[in-house]
This record gives sequence, structure tokens and C-alpha cells, in this order.
Amino acid sequence: MKPLPDAWGSAAAGLRVDLIDTPALVVDLDAMERNIQRMADFARKHGVRWRPHAKLHKSAEIALLLQKAGACGACVQKLSEAEALAAGGVNDLFISNEILAANKLLRTARLAAGLAARGGRLALAVDSEEGIARLAEAMDKAGSDAGIDVFVEIDVGQGRCGVPPGTEAVALAQSIARRHRLRFAGLHAYHGGAQHLRGVGERRSAIAAAVAAAAHTRTLIEAAGLPVGLITGAGTGTLVHEAASGVYGELQAGSFLFMDADYARNERESAQPAFEHALFVKTQVISARATHVVCDAGHKSHAIDSGLPLVHGLPPERALRFANGGDEHGILYPEGPKARLPALGRMLWLVPGHCDPTVNLHDHLIGVRGGLAHGVVERIIRVDARGAVT
Ligand code: PLP
Ligand code: MN
Repeated sequence: MKPLPDAWGSAAAGLRVDLIDTPALVVDLDAMERNIQRMADFARKHGVRWRPHAKLHKSAEIALLLQKAGACGACVQKLSEAEALAAGGVNDLFISNEILAANKLLRTARLAAGLAARGGRLALAVDSEEGIARLAEAMDKAGSDAGIDVFVEIDVGQGRCGVPPGTEAVALAQSIARRHRLRFAGLHAYHGGAQHLRGVGERRSAIAAAVAAAAHTRTLIEAAGLPVGLITGAGTGTLVHEAASGVYGELQAGSFLFMDADYARNERESAQPAFEHALFVKTQVISARATHVVCDAGHKSHAIDSGLPLVHGLPPERALRFANGGDEHGILYPEGPKARLPALGRMLWLVPGHCDPTVNLHDHLIGVRGGLAHGVVERIIRVDARGAVT
């Protein structure tokens, strides 16, 4: 991990927001904490566990903050993310993904042993007999008594990883149960394809099908004599449905913490907690032309895979449109009927189109207390697993 740049040493605490250098990735800590509270209340009301996905924030500090608020641990997508968070003190990790490479499986086994030794645990998803056999071999090779929780991933509609719901999942569960250091922990049933379906009805029916498929698979596995300890899944777009299903016992949603512009385009469910934007790119107008202005944030500051950022804090009649100006520039045009172009030197706040890959572009999140207008820097949060993609 790179050391904090001089400007972000302990002297950063207390810096006024208007003096934060741009472009910078800023977390509105008050908004983030409100989102955490909303999620904690929601999960409690529905009697489900929550294991927020750390692919969003990649920070041990935030994972631990979420646990303090009631989260049961963290999901990660990659082994190297798990290693980075474990090094930062996170004890209960689920790699919600498949791993096949022998060297990585050996590291996985060692991480499982390390976490077990300090009272924690590691879990991994599988969707093949080959994956199970290789994991079992690595666990034996690692030479520890520690076990690992293994979830069978079923494809509940996304068409990504996972065996089809039904008998194939039964065979994998049985294979896990036969292995010495592997514990069959349940089903990983995440429907990524449903998260950004725009209509409430579309998302409801997609998850109704996922719930039915997961419940049916559980019935088959239990009929074969194996208890299904947990069905885990759900993202920010659909969590109301998994939570109410009585089938899913754990929610993996991550984006609720920061809320990107793409999620703001979903039709909102009345039962959905009112999550608010909490992650912003602060940017400055560095060129003012007659027809447009240019700011200093391009796609090295924010990811654009799910659309360009929104300019935050403007009423619709004064909206500005952000257009792609390349790696280091954003071009702003008037959009609303009463829009006025901001003056040269003005600071603006952008809501990223997609927060997960945006965070991965930065070493630090600048935590601001007291709002974007008049707040101050409270602390710098390290993105411990930045670039941890293996
Ligand atoms: N679980 C898995 C397996 C995921 O891949 C993701 C995100 O892609 C999530 C949970 C979290 O979804 P979100 O960040 O949309 O809440
Ligand atoms: Mn995402």
C-alpha cells in the first residue's frame, strides 16, 4: 500500500471541504452512516443477516464499521481482497466467487487456517466437482486442522457462474460433505442481472423466480439428508424481495452504502430503505468557454461502465449534463431550462455512475463530516484492496 501523500497526513483532519484538492474521491460520512443505520434497521426488521459486499469499498476500516453496526462479516469477490481485509482485522469473510488455480487455492487454505486461528472463518463458493476436488486437495496440503465453509453457487437467472438449480447442486453438496476439511454451508444464489432492472415489477418477478429456484434446490438437498444452513444473495436493487422471502437468510448488498447514479435510475420500491448518495468526486472548473465548461475529472477519476456521473445538488431546471472529455476532463453543458454554466474555479460534486470500480481507481477515500457545503475532513480511509483483482 502506498503511503499517504503528504497532503493527506494527520494534517488533513480539519481541512475545510473547499480546500480539498481535486479531483478527489470524497465520502460524506454523515450520509454513509445514515445508510448503514437504514440497512441495520431493515435487516433487523426482517430477521436476516447482512454481509455487505466489500467489492464496493475495499476497505478494512469500513468493513469493521459495518460489523459494528450489526453486519455478520464481509463478502469479497477475490482472494486478494480477502487477504487485504483479513490483514486489516476482518475475521469473517465469504469469497462469493469460484477459485480454480492451485496456487490461489493454497493461499485460500492458508487464509482459512489463519482466520480460524484467531476465531474467524472463511467461506468460498464452488460450482464444479473439479473446484471442490482442488479445494480439498489444497486444504490437505496446507496441513492445518482448520476447515472451510463451502457454498454451492446456483445460477438463479443472471447466466454467470453457478450450476442450474436442482439436482446438479445436490451432487455438489454431497461431494462437499464427503470431504474432510470442507463444510457444506448452503447455497450462494445471487441474481446480478436483476439489480438494475428499472421497474419494480420486473425486479419483483425476477427475484420471485430466484426464490422459488433456491427453495426447490434446498428441498432436494435436504431430502438427500444434508441440512442447508443458509441461502445467501441479494444486491441493493432487489434486497427487499430476498429479505421478505423467508428463504434467503443473508443479504450481500454492498452499493447501498454509497449509492451510485445507476441505482438512482431504478424505480424505487416503497419498502426500500431511502439510501442516499454518499460517495462523490469533487472536481473543479478549469476552463470556461461560451458553450460549456470543463472540469478536472475524467474517467481516471470515476468509472463510466454504468454511465457518466451526475452533477450533484442541482434542481432539475438548473441541471448540467456531464459529457465524457477523456481521461482527465469532463465537459459540462447546460441541460435544465434555467441552467447556468458554473464560473471558472468553481468546485462541483459528481455522483459516479458506478461506485465499485470508481473506488478501485483511488488509494484513499476522504471522509468529510458536516456536509459537502461547509464540512471538514474528519479522516482518510485507505482503500486497502485497491487493485486487488487476483
Ligand atoms: N453479491 C455478489 C455476488 C455480487 O457480485 C454483488 C455485486 O456485483 C453484490 C453481492 C452486491 O451488489 P450491490 O453492490 O449491487 O448491492
Ligand atoms: Mn457494482
